[in-house]
Amino acid sequence: MMNLAAIDLRPHLLDPIPELQVAARLLDEAVSAHLAGDRDRADRLIRAADLPVIAKWTESLWGQGGPWSRPRSVANPLPNLPSGQRPRQRMPGKTVLRQLVARDGYHCRFCGIPVIRAEIRRQIRAAYPEALRWGTRNADQHAAFQALWLTYDHLLPHARGGDNDPDNLVIACQPCKCGRADLTLGEAGLLDPRERDPVRSAWDGLERFTKQGGT
Ligand SMILES: [Zn+2]
Repeated sequence: MMNLAAIDLRPHLLDPIPELQVAARLLDEAVSAHLAGDRDRADRLIRAADLPVIAKWTESLWGQGGPWSRPRSVANPLPNLPSGQRPRQRMPGKTVLRQLVARDGYHCRFCGIPVIRAEIRRQIRAAYPEALRWGTRNADQHAAFQALWLTYDHLLPHARGGDNDPDNLVIACQPCKCGRADLTLGEAGLLDPRERDPVRSAWDGLERFTKQGGT
C-alpha cells in the first residue's frame, strides 16, 4: 500500500521569495565595491538589501503561528528529552563545522537560499556598523543578514536525542531552522534533504570579504 503521508511532504516549509536572491546580489555587489575601495557604494548596497518584505517572510516562518506550532501527528513520536538526557555536546567543534560547509556549500539544504556565516556578518558589521544594523530584537536586525544567516541544523533535533554526527547535521538558513524548531522532519512534513544534492552556485557566502584584507 502506498504511504499516503509521504505524498504531501515538501522540501521546505515556505517557498523562498525572489527578493532573497535580489538581496544576496546586492550584498555580493557591496562586497565587490568594498574590495574595490568604494566604501560609499558598499554602504548604500548593504542598506538597499535590508528589505522589509524579507523581514515579513522570515517572521512568517519563525513567528507566532509558524510551522513549528502545527506539528503533524506521526506514529510513535519521539519524546522531548529533558536537558540532562540530551546528547551532552549541543554543537560539534570547528573542524566538523568546516566539513559541513565544504560538503553543503553556502546554500540552505532545505529552501536553497544563499547563506552567510555569522562570523562574516560580524566582520562586515565591524566595517559598516550603521548600514548593517544588528540589535538584540529581531525587528532591529538587517532583514537580509537575518534571513540569509548560515546555521548548522540537527535533522533529528538535539532535544529529541539527535547527535553531532555530520550525517545528522546540514547547513540551513536561520528561518528554516527556527521555523522547524524541535520538530522531526516527519512532524514538520519535510522531505529528507540528504536525499537531494546541495545547491551549487557562484555564491561564496561573501567569504572573500575577509580573504582580501577587508577592514
Ligand atoms: Zn532555508
